[in-house]
This record gives sequence, structure tokens and C-alpha cells, in this order.
Amino acid sequence: MPCSRFRTALSARVDGEALPPDTTGPALDAHLASCAPCRRWEEDARRLREATLPADDGDACGADRLLARLRADLRGHAEGGRGWNGTRAG
Ligand SMILES: [Zn+2]
Repeated sequence: MPCSRFRTALSARVDGEALPPDTTGPALDAHLASCAPCRRWEEDARRLREATLPADDGDACGADRLLARLRADLRGHAEGGRGWNGTRAG
């Protein structure tokens, strides 16, 4: 099974959702044990989830840096896109 399938399942698990029917928890753990890139991916997914959860007394630095990185990434995709603001009907 390709990594992308495991990552879909990882994303669900990190979010506390049910795993896809073709992936079981033990299979996921076995893949993680043998696939370092997927382990790192899971860590990122967890950090992202923590960053988007409301924190009471958390240290926001890590979350801010991660969000800044993600925003920079999004900017790269939507280069030169202006027009969220200022479209008038008429
Ligand atoms: Zn993998």
C-alpha cells in the first residue's frame, strides 16, 4: 500500500476520526515503524492539529512558526492572486 494511503489514515487518527476501512491501527503502526517519512509526517500533522486547537496557557511560538510556514506555502501556490477583497457586483 502506498504511503499516501497510510497518510490518509494517519490524518484521520490524528483528528480522532475513524480509520479508512482498508487500514487498521496495527497496519498503520507497522508502517510507521518502517517508514521514517511517514513518522515525520505524522508529527507534523499532530503539531498542526495542536496549533489549530485553542490552547489555554500554551506556548504559541511553535504554532505561530508552523502557521507562518504554511501560509508561505499557500502564497507560493496562489502567486499574484488579488481579489478576495474588492469585487463589487454591479
Ligand atoms: Zn510511508
